[in-house]
Amino acid sequence: MPEAPCLFCRIAARESPAEIEYEDDLVVAFKDIYPKAPIHLLIVPKRHIESVATLTPDDRTLVGHCFLVARRIGESKGFAERGYRVNVNCGPEGGQVVYHLHFHFLAGRRGG
Ligand code: 5GP
Ligand code: ZN
Repeated sequence: MPEAPCLFCRIAARESPAEIEYEDDLVVAFKDIYPKAPIHLLIVPKRHIESVATLTPDDRTLVGHCFLVARRIGESKGFAERGYRVNVNCGPEGGQVVYHLHFHFLAGRRGG
């Protein structure tokens, strides 16, 4: 089998290690390797999409699903009331480093 082309594709295919905390048919969520908050997960579609800038109308359901997974993680970790941040970086000036769409889930510190 040839290697999947990008880091988050490899993690989603379990070809590279990560601390996966949630998985379903469409997404995986795993711990960020350099956490910027006490809880910092990355919610990653299994299908390779480069960034917000390359989304198409066909991705509507998948993007909505990512937010529902964020809600689910927030509830399961006890942050539904206290709150959390869901953040997406897009492109070089948006701070995107990994060009596979991902949603940062940040919790446990005021202001993220
Ligand atoms: P971006 O800046 O693209 O929005 O965020 C990329 C995130 O991926 C960063 O927060 C960075 O710490 C995280 N990251 C980079 N490489 C790895 C890795 O190999 N494993 C994990 N779990 N996270 C990574
Ligand atoms: Zn990818």
